[in-house]
Amino acid sequence: METSPQDSVRKDWDTYFMDIAYMVSTRSRCPRRHVGAVLVQGKKLLGTAYNGAPMGVDDCSEAGCMIVEEVELTMVDSEERMVKKQRCIRTIHAEQNLLMFTDRIDREGSTVYVTDQPCWTCANMLANSGVKEIVYHRNYPKDSEKVVTLMTQKGIVFRNLAEYEPPAHSGMSVIS
Ligand SMILES: [Zn+2]
Ligand SMILES: [Zn+2]
Repeated sequence: METSPQDSVRKDWDTYFMDIAYMVSTRSRCPRRHVGAVLVQGKKLLGTAYNGAPMGVDDCSEAGCMIVEEVELTMVDSEERMVKKQRCIRTIHAEQNLLMFTDRIDREGSTVYVTDQPCWTCANMLANSGVKEIVYHRNYPKDSEKVVTLMTQKGIVFRNLAEYEPPAHSGMSVIS
């Protein structure tokens, strides 16, 4: 089959929905991390969400990030070390907002596209949400191992779009 010039510029579905997730993430007001998530059922967009403070409450751009310090076990030069890490807890994560603003019946058998690999809490909630597939772009190594194990146990397809490139100006560096 011949491909027309239009086919070569036409985006595949993964790129299309991940582009939308990145677009949604630009609404986030937390300077540490902009995360966007979209719910897709049979190529139909059913919901969008980003990380942010509860409605009507000052967000990170107004009140500053709400930083907590946590000690994390990390591999440094192939040695396990306790490393102090900072995290902003002011925001409700994009995936949690997505679950709060969509219906269970719509989520049954659906796919979530999310700019970042879900943290443990979000993955745990998604595992119980009816979603059958999660597609993410940026890695989040902190919780990766246990999240992958959970997804395997639940039979949820968990895909990383490693080759994907976000649209210009929608991405941002992540403070980890
Ligand atoms: Zn913040
Ligand atoms: Zn999360």
